[in-house]
Parts: sequence; structure tokens; C-alpha cells
Amino acid sequence: MDGGELERFVVEELKESRFRAGQIGQWLARGADIDGMTNLSAALRKRLSEVAVANPVRILESYKSQIDETEKFLYALTDGNLIEGVLMRYHHGDTLCVSTQVGCRMGCAFCASTLDGRVRNLTPGEILGQVAAANRHIQAEDPQRRVHNIVLMGSGEPLDNYDNVVRFLKLVNAPEGLNISLRNISLSTCGLVPRMYDFANEGLPVTLSLSLHAPNDEIRRKIMPVAHAYTFDQVLAACKNYVDKTGRRVIFEYALIRDLNSDVRHAEELARRLRGLRCHVNLIPLNDVKERNLAAPDRKTVDAFLKRLELKHISATIRREMGADIEGACGQLRRKVLDEAKAAKD
Ligand code: SAH
Repeated sequence: MDGGELERFVVEELKESRFRAGQIGQWLARGADIDGMTNLSAALRKRLSEVAVANPVRILESYKSQIDETEKFLYALTDGNLIEGVLMRYHHGDTLCVSTQVGCRMGCAFCASTLDGRVRNLTPGEILGQVAAANRHIQAEDPQRRVHNIVLMGSGEPLDNYDNVVRFLKLVNAPEGLNISLRNISLSTCGLVPRMYDFANEGLPVTLSLSLHAPNDEIRRKIMPVAHAYTFDQVLAACKNYVDKTGRRVIFEYALIRDLNSDVRHAEELARRLRGLRCHVNLIPLNDVKERNLAAPDRKTVDAFLKRLELKHISATIRREMGADIEGACGQLRRKVLDEAKAAKD
């Protein structure tokens, strides 16, 4: 909740003073648990813990990459559901990848998050709670560090949980809260076109990432069920609208998949389709998901694809693979834990 909501809750529901609301707000911003709110009376702390949870998300396990310091978190929610996140250390600050749903119902063929469908939406507090939990974790080691950038690229489709995600964006940006600039936040979508138009009208200067993964409808439909609902042209038009409304360039995510979308003629076609749009293409050699029969192409093919885009004046980079030794990709860790739990039961 934001400062106003907290005050209403404390004054109207708990019949406590505005001063107390201020104290509680300060503790919450620091990620404290109710037990640790030491300037409140024991009686008030007890009442609070009966009606509220300060931290709805807890890190159950964390794994640090030996290669690049990327850290992966397995979080537990209060109802026992598991979600995951990745913290990447870049020179421009720590970047946290957060989830917006437990599971996902978009059904992309290459993605581990969607294998069991969507379990439920995350609340705004649970999305925010991932940032608070990551901050607590890294500050235990170094009080100067904090999450600086956020990418909504974990499990789930953010625009399929629209209201909670917009609420989260407003909360995380609140000066009395985590105060993270919206310009440091990227939202990634598989292309829910009507919601992309809604989002452009929110007036939030968030970077939009669009999971494209194909140069045309035919290939896109093979790997992304959403492409049956909205055509390639409709998606591009919604991206153009976002650029026009926000003045920010769109980032296209393009996972390179062997024998499917990674030939130079696909690069040619992609360049032709994107011509004139203010954008950048992020090429991601597919992270192999063992449940799926899809793999990344070899390095030569990846480099040739990039070269061809550049030749056609499309700004593009190959995304550096991070945390390869810790199941860095989307949904893979939760998957592994669920599989192991199932194996233990069988
Ligand atoms: N639902 C949103 C955000 C979550 S996925 C979306 O579709 O954009 C974040 C990104 O990871 C998306 O671009 C997604 O397509 C990509 N992704 C998922 N599985 C992947 C895999 N196995 N290899 C590479 N990228 C993957």
C-alpha cells in the first residue's frame, strides 16, 4: 500500500494515530518484519501481526553463479506457492528480474514457466515484495547496494495481470517507498495487443519489451499461441503506438532457435518488417529447456544473424548469457524444484 492507504488502515481500522502510521511506514520501507518494529508497543505489534504481513515474499533459497555473480532466488509466498527471480549485477546497477504470476497461461513452446499453466496472479504487494526481499538479501552483505533496475521478465505475462502490475509500478516508484525510477523499469510482454494500447495510455515511462521471436506470423504461430489472437502487423502497430505515446524505443526480444527462426533470410525479413520503427533487437540464443525439443543454433549462425541485421541498419545485440550454471532462465528453477518434489512423492 502507499502512504495514504497505510495511514487510512492504521487510523481507521486499527484506531491508532497518524504518528504510528508514519513509524510503521518507515519500517516497511526498510523491509522490517512486524517483530522488528521496536518502537511500537508489544501489544500493537501483536495486533498488527494478526491482521497483516509485513513481508509477503521470502527467499527460500539463493544460488550465486560462480561465473558472473548473478544470483537466483527461489521465493515462497504465504500460501506456499513458489516463484523465482534473478539478480544481475551490471555496471549501471543491480537489476532484478521479477515475476508477475505463479506460472503462466500463454503457452509459448520454449518457455518453462508455462508448462503447468497459470496458478494465480501475484498481488501488487507480492510483486513489490520480491524487490524488498532481494534488497534485504543483498544489504545483509553490503548496506550500500540495492535494486536499481527492474525487469518484469520473470514468470508470468505482466499484461495478463494488468491492474496489479500497474499498481505495482506506481507503488515501487513512490518516494516514500522504494523510489525506483520508472525509467529504470522494463516490462516484457508476449504481445497482448489491446492491453498494450491501454498501457501506452497510463503515462508511465516504462521501457516496453516485446517478445517477438519470429519474422512473420507463420513462424510465430508455431511457437507462440498468442500469435493466433493478434497478427504480427497488429503487434507492430501497437509497438509503434507505444513509441509515439511515450517517446521511448521498443526492445524486441528474439530467441534464436535452431532450424526455426535463425537463418539469415529470417534476419532479412525481420529487418524489412522493423524498418522505420524506433527499436532495438535483443538476440537471445535459446536457453534449452529439457522438457521441450528446441535448442539454440551454433554460435556462427547467431553471429551471422546479428551481422545481417546490422547490415540492414537495425540496432541489435546478442544478450549476454548470465547465470548459465544456476538455471538462470525463466521458470527453470521453480520447475526443477517442483519436479524434484514430485519425484520425492512418487
Ligand atoms: N510473458 C512475458 C515476460 C516473461 S518471459 C513475455 O513473454 O515477454 C521473459 C522473456 O524470456 C521473454 O522474451 C520470453 O520469450 C523469454 N524466454 C522464455 N523462455 C526462454 C528460453 N527458453 N530461452 C530464451 N528466452 C526465453
